Amino acid sequence: MNLNAWYGQKVTERSFLGQFLRKLRRFYLGTFRQDYIAQSIATNRQGDCHRCGLCCELIYKCPFLGRDGQNLPYCRIYGDLRPANCRNYPFDAIDSEIDTCGYVFNGNLQRN
Ligand code: SF4
Repeated sequence: MNLNAWYGQKVTERSFLGQFLRKLRRFYLGTFRQDYIAQSIATNRQGDCHRCGLCCELIYKCPFLGRDGQNLPYCRIYGDLRPANCRNYPFDAIDSEIDTCGYVFNGNLQRN
């Protein structure tokens, strides 16, 4: 198996390695391929964020994740300071690794 095939398989796995590769991919595309992210969100993403906060705890719990009086999650730096990784999550079907996320993508709309 060559490196491309290995990566293509591992980046979609529900494993720690898969999470780690998606985090690297998220950082790389968010930094160098913002055009791809904007187009993917505009053409492939449907649904809404319902504020579960689970994407703020991928691999590690974000230190800026807060809880309000009703125990709902919120971002302490919401706005201009919020990193691109967070603003754009999830930007495509590979990036979308939380099955209960309110966003869905063309090709995996059957998820709940
Ligand atoms: S996992 Fe999805 S629904 Fe939950 S907070 Fe993140 S973007 Fe919103």
